[in-house]
Amino acid sequence: MSEANAKLNAFPVFMRVEGEAVAIVGGGEEALAKARLLDQSSAVLRIITDAAEAELLNFIAATGAVHIDAAYDAAHLEGATLVFAASGEEALDRRVAADARRLGIPVNAVDRPELCDFFTPALVNRAPVAIAIGTEGAGPVLAQILRSRIDRMLSPSLGALATLAASFRGAAERLPKGNGRRRFWSDFFAGAPARAVEAGELSQAHDAALDLLVSNAPAAGHIALVGAGPGAEDLLTLRAHRFLMEADVIVYDALVPEAIVAMGRRDAERLPVGKRKGCHSKSQTEINALLVELGHAGKRVVRLKSGDPLVFGRAGEEMAALRDAGIAYEVVPGVTAAFAAAADFELPLTLRGVSSSMVFTTGHDLKGNSLPDWAKLAISGATVAVYMGRSVAAEVAGRLIEAGLSPDTAVAVVENASLGNRRRFHGTLADLPSLEARADLTGPVMTIIGDAVAGANFERSEPLAAHRHEGAASTAAEGVEQ
Ligand code: SAH
Repeated sequence: MSEANAKLNAFPVFMRVEGEAVAIVGGGEEALAKARLLDQSSAVLRIITDAAEAELLNFIAATGAVHIDAAYDAAHLEGATLVFAASGEEALDRRVAADARRLGIPVNAVDRPELCDFFTPALVNRAPVAIAIGTEGAGPVLAQILRSRIDRMLSPSLGALATLAASFRGAAERLPKGNGRRRFWSDFFAGAPARAVEAGELSQAHDAALDLLVSNAPAAGHIALVGAGPGAEDLLTLRAHRFLMEADVIVYDALVPEAIVAMGRRDAERLPVGKRKGCHSKSQTEINALLVELGHAGKRVVRLKSGDPLVFGRAGEEMAALRDAGIAYEVVPGVTAAFAAAADFELPLTLRGVSSSMVFTTGHDLKGNSLPDWAKLAISGATVAVYMGRSVAAEVAGRLIEAGLSPDTAVAVVENASLGNRRRFHGTLADLPSLEARADLTGPVMTIIGDAVAGANFERSEPLAAHRHEGAASTAAEGVEQ
């Protein structure tokens, strides 16, 4: 509340309409729009028009709405709970509004606020939960923007959760009033029952709610391993965003931009845990222990990792630690860097007749004498995405060429994929070693190698070859999570 004295001129209420008649007068698009809105309720629609357009007739046929196919008469409104004057003709709408008022029925006249007893809200429907948005004079565009924002915030399964909640109301009444009951409901809506409903496991959700009823134990913790995507805020998934907004604690890696961490619940605790090459950060063992500790403390934790959490994110170790400790967790996928880099380059990762497989690899497994298996795949035409490959670019190129891949094979490199400060470079495998010397590349770098790269758009990229002969040493930081 920024303006303490601001008062609403229209006060929102929820009108009971189940099985009640709602009259809509009109046969054109205004009437159809109102009919569609009201069809989200269990009201019985009564559409009064002798000039229904084809689309409205289809709507009536499809929904079983009552059609009074006659010239409008005040008697048609009798017994209705609400009336909509939606004829598109001012004189008729005025007449309908006057008749409704005489009959004591609240009326809404489309686009004629001066004739309205009530306004219809923009609606976010998760029946039985409804969120109604009113903007009074500010107009429908604002209402629609707010509607879609709110819609994105809410789980699609909220309705199912609310229905389950309703079935537990009686049982919860038997819990001690005050704290006990409040804790039951907050654990119900934010804990295991909610998560099970979200996963589509209704009977599991029911059991989890029963457990909550009988146990006095504090709420169990939960860790979500969440992919933050490559960096751009709007490449976060809706689910990741929802988890962030519900988190008690956010544990995040160095490659996750602050802007994304800031999308989390305002009072969530935020714990950075590294890791950037060369900087001190928590060891993996310490991170595992931290997650287990937070889980035991009953926290809802988002473990935020760049890209997808299951790609070079050490998620395997964290999940094993959580499993061993008996702490519930789940994984929320994210857009991995290879996909973001390919999108920035309009690069088809698979290309008919050229490449039909993909390798996600890191250049760091090239030590020793034997070639890793992915080198063979590259030779047989796979598109290779190299994570954390900048500081080993020469090694990767040298070994692939040695193994038989042509030095002319196309290469695309993207620094800071998906972000406004992204840079794109193109060249061949022979040019790749120059990457190592480039102290100007301070962001994370994705390298894509293979014949499919030739299908990319090189209009906005710089040639790698310009730096071909620069030395091999490198000092710049590289985002490393492996
Ligand atoms: N889990 C992450 C990868 C973590 S490993 C994912 O799925 O994307 C870290 C490496 O990912 C970096 O060294 C870099 O190679 C790559 N990377 C991450 N974000 C990137 C970005 N925005 N642009 C280019 N490469 C990126």
